[in-house]
Amino acid sequence: MKVFKFGGASVKDADAVRNMASIIQENQGTPLVVIVSAMGKTTNALEDLLTHSLAKLNSKAAALQQIVAFHQQIVDDLDLARDEKLQAEITGVYKELNHQLNQVEPSSSYDFLYDQTVSLGEILSSLIIAAYLNHNDIPTHWLDARKVIKTDQRHRAARVDWGATQNFIRSNINQLTDREVVLSQGFIGSNAESNTTTLGREGSDFTGAIFAATLSAESLTIWKDVPGVLNADPKKFKEAQKYDRLPYKEAAEMSYYGASVIHPKTIKPLAEKGIPLYVKSFKNPQAPGTLIDECVVPHLKPAIILKDSQTVITLKISDFSFINERHIQTVFYQINRLKLSINFMQKSAISFTICMDDNTFKREELQDALMDDFLFHYNEGLQLMTVINYNQETLDELMADKDIIIEQQSGNNFQMVYKC
Ligand code: ASP
Repeated sequence: MKVFKFGGASVKDADAVRNMASIIQENQGTPLVVIVSAMGKTTNALEDLLTHSLAKLNSKAAALQQIVAFHQQIVDDLDLARDEKLQAEITGVYKELNHQLNQVEPSSSYDFLYDQTVSLGEILSSLIIAAYLNHNDIPTHWLDARKVIKTDQRHRAARVDWGATQNFIRSNINQLTDREVVLSQGFIGSNAESNTTTLGREGSDFTGAIFAATLSAESLTIWKDVPGVLNADPKKFKEAQKYDRLPYKEAAEMSYYGASVIHPKTIKPLAEKGIPLYVKSFKNPQAPGTLIDECVVPHLKPAIILKDSQTVITLKISDFSFINERHIQTVFYQINRLKLSINFMQKSAISFTICMDDNTFKREELQDALMDDFLFHYNEGLQLMTVINYNQETLDELMADKDIIIEQQSGNNFQMVYKC
């Protein structure tokens, strides 16, 4: 069995859906589980719709209408307008969306409402795609991911209950795949109370890995609009190159430091089971892409990862004594309390420096909490560059003409924060 994951760009319009169907058709000899995201930028559109709805803006109706029209256009272009079953299913999704949006009570938290509404993008997308495949000689079973991906109660960043999820996936899938493609949704699940939860933005890759690991699949393939995993963002580095093969460890590190090609949680379940991950281009499906597995690749190209909008905070002790464990404990206590995440940190005898995403509100809260113990300096709007597997030649090139505020080397990695 293989698992395929198609992201938003690979199902953004009717042509993209036809292309996806031809990729599935070419692989029909093997049992296949297909995970799809919402179409194009639908997740962003649903987020906007929720914001308009909560703010009671008149523009809410137009925002909803845009989502409806976008999907109806794809349905029409795929020649599915006369499929009454599909039309009824889609109408049911819009009813549910309206019901959720109109039920905005002060008691429902934003994160709860977010999951009940934004998750519907994946439902719409998968219903349309399942109908198209069934109309085009690819027998397809639509599986509701909310019935099998079980999570804890946390909305927008739910954690998977692996035991329950594995039981539900196995009991729902094993007999089906010889006869038909199983099509399900990425990103979404449900908690013990059957309320919809989501796994975090871009979480569909992780869903693919959950299915692949649970079913001991032969491989997971993530179909993207890039030729594979590149060693830098091609929009920022013209000379970016593709990796033909990458060890799990390197791929996990790249996603941890912010490379957007794979969701950070994807690698672990695959590596634990030794399941290879292919990242391939849906525009050129015959090309080999990148294979990620347990391997040793000599002389790996350095990977360059950029993060914009960074704040560097330097904490010094007001009386010139040295930084000790108690100071660090105080800092981490506040960071944890404010749910901040640190992208980079450095300690010297008299200072402790952290780098985090720009967030004026939380930075001010942190400053208030620490001002009795530390002198607090900050610098916002910076860029963080991480270079994995660096060599001196690459660093010399990257560091030239940069106004570097702080830098650090550890193991294979080099990081620097500089003014843009
Ligand atoms: N549709 C969701 C998002 O855009 C999940 C995904 O595509 O992975 O974040």
